[in-house]
Amino acid sequence: MKVTFLGTGTSQGIPVIGSRHPVCLSTDPKDSRLRTSVLIEWEDNKYIVDCGPDFRQQMLRCGCEKIDGILFTHEHSDHVLGLDDIRPFYFKQGNISIYAHKRVLKALKKRFDYIFETENKYPGAPSVSIQKIKNKPFNLADVKVIPVKGKHFKLNVFGFRFNDFCYTTDLKSMKQKEKQKIKGVKVLVVNALRIEAHYSHFNLEEALKFIEEIQPERAFLTHISHLLGFHAEVEKQLPENVFLAYDNLEISI
Ligand SMILES: [Zn+2]
Repeated sequence: MKVTFLGTGTSQGIPVIGSRHPVCLSTDPKDSRLRTSVLIEWEDNKYIVDCGPDFRQQMLRCGCEKIDGILFTHEHSDHVLGLDDIRPFYFKQGNISIYAHKRVLKALKKRFDYIFETENKYPGAPSVSIQKIKNKPFNLADVKVIPVKGKHFKLNVFGFRFNDFCYTTDLKSMKQKEKQKIKGVKVLVVNALRIEAHYSHFNLEEALKFIEEIQPERAFLTHISHLLGFHAEVEKQLPENVFLAYDNLEISI
């Protein structure tokens, strides 16, 4: 299985528009972060987790020519706003499968009403195949995907375990029962926003504590704010098996 980090930045992306913060002005490409998303590939299968406002740029950047579906963690703008840009895939492949909880689907229908229109639909609009998911395993091709539920402020969010790989983002907490589902993974992705505490995201300390509990072989931090600091400097302070993800990073599991 191959995982490509399409974006590793928090909701505003880095650099933040108009910011003079040193990290936003950094010339290190690893300090530039599009909105958080990953591409997960195995054999001929290509799935994306989340589809934020940078989706078009991310698809062009990774040279992706087809997708088999999009899984949504939750409905916040930085995770869904690129949905209209599935059009090139839709024109080529037909309806694109989207996997989401019913609450997330409701939000998508409100925001992208024209995509879900069944009568007099505008011919240029894309269409999707709705795959409603609950907190229960489901199959993508030959892989069993296990959703893992966490809290993002008051909102439930899903992470997804694909065999030895588990992708989570936008977590502030997770119940023991859900953590149990992640135990034994080789690679874990988790959000680490910044050094200071935040009401809806793990800060660095909380992310490291979460990793310590799960004990994966390797962990990668994502959904990073400029306030976490320079990539090169933060990376040096991390435990041996923990890394800061960066845009375009590819890992094999
Ligand atoms: Zn987010």
